[in-house]
Amino acid sequence: MRRSRKVKILATLGPASSDEAMIRKLFEAGADVFRINMSHTDHDSMRALVGRIRAVESQVGRPIGILADLQGPKLRVGKFAKGKEELKVGQTFTLDNNDTPGDSKRVFLPHPEILRSVEVGHRLLIDDGKLQLKAVKTDGKKIVCEVVAGTGISDRKGVSLPDTDLPVGALTEKDRRDLDAVLETGVDWVALSFIQRPDDLAEARKIANGRALLLSKIEKPQAVARLAEIIELSDALMVARGDLGVEMPLEAVPGIQKQITRAARRAGKPVVVATQMLESMITAPVPTRAEVSDVSIAVFEGADAIMLSAESAAGAYPVEAVSMMDRIAVRVEQDPTYPGIINAQRSTPEATSADAISLASREIAETLKLAAIITYTASGATGMRAARERPQVPIIALSPILDTARRLSLLWGTHCVVSPDAIDLDDMVERACRMAFNEGFAKAGERIIVTAGVPLRTPGSTNMLRIAYVGQDGKGGR
Ligand code: PGA
Ligand code: MN
Repeated sequence: MRRSRKVKILATLGPASSDEAMIRKLFEAGADVFRINMSHTDHDSMRALVGRIRAVESQVGRPIGILADLQGPKLRVGKFAKGKEELKVGQTFTLDNNDTPGDSKRVFLPHPEILRSVEVGHRLLIDDGKLQLKAVKTDGKKIVCEVVAGTGISDRKGVSLPDTDLPVGALTEKDRRDLDAVLETGVDWVALSFIQRPDDLAEARKIANGRALLLSKIEKPQAVARLAEIIELSDALMVARGDLGVEMPLEAVPGIQKQITRAARRAGKPVVVATQMLESMITAPVPTRAEVSDVSIAVFEGADAIMLSAESAAGAYPVEAVSMMDRIAVRVEQDPTYPGIINAQRSTPEATSADAISLASREIAETLKLAAIITYTASGATGMRAARERPQVPIIALSPILDTARRLSLLWGTHCVVSPDAIDLDDMVERACRMAFNEGFAKAGERIIVTAGVPLRTPGSTNMLRIAYVGQDGKGGR
């Protein structure tokens, strides 16, 4: 089974997509990686989902990636005596440390550190910005606000603070419990929400201790401001447009999306574009023209993956949404303008042998019109450098380690196969040819390129590049 596109599809699982048959249908429609949103999933359900994804994985015989998304420090107001209130623009409304039910004048904010950090003039955006408040007086125990726009507020609504540097790390107590549970269950990627600074990755990195890779969700202006340092410490990035569009002006989001995807491509770290990509498909079987165009932009930017949220988790057309994304991606990548647009953002290699070999294999493969680039990668690092080159020919990443193959399923243009270590150079070429043939990437008589580190089994030693003929029945030719 091979996909006929480079960009990967990440589908969020939820009530509309939690049984095994549906997960399989989503995979068959094109989902390469599944996201489990820990904001809405308890530990038992998370473990059940992971079990079902792994069952589908063995049925279809392809490595499937799993991303567990931690909730992060999402702030919420307390409850109201009447459940909700209507406010008036211009009135004052107070958030305080009094845990009694709220009314039309005040509500509890169960985050004492936030009561201390908000300063006069800062904006408080309730319920994704539907209600806008501005702080007019603060004393460390309460924030007196003016209602600037909107009127409705109700129990446990979210609070975004675009102007305030939050004195909180990226992991809450809930996140720590969730992180332990997802690592124990063996997920491949962990997403960190609302990170603000490079330091925010440190604790999760220490706890994960190599068991999963870390994806930083860029959804706060503070993170955009320190993007380069955050990319450096992350294994992957997400343009989290949902919260980004609340915390920053909506019109700033498309440019920021381009900045993040370009910077991530330059660094060779996978980047996911997320949220509202096919939003109208939550309730309709076809998307709007604008949504199709939005998906195409992410594909043209060379993002590694495009994501579905509520469309696949809670919508009425989860399979249709995945298959629509798949069709858009396949078509965009066949467009005559696509290679030129992708190439325009290619960056120069770093001075390492892995990068030099990735560059050389792309040029050779494109010049000689070879069928595929086969890279032997144990940790996945060489696979990521090969994908950074964005070659027009497919990359097949061969790894003896199943976890590596699952992790790389997020990676642009890369078909991952688990394959035991070769015993010598001839065996390596032989295996590469057979794999390219069996997986449907090369026909007899075509040539492929093989990259590896010699001597074998020395991590980080990619230093070899070989052109090989695929012989009859996929046997390695000369
Ligand atoms: P969420 O993250 O769906 O967990 O909020 C993505 C986003 O904010 O875009
Ligand atoms: Mn978010």
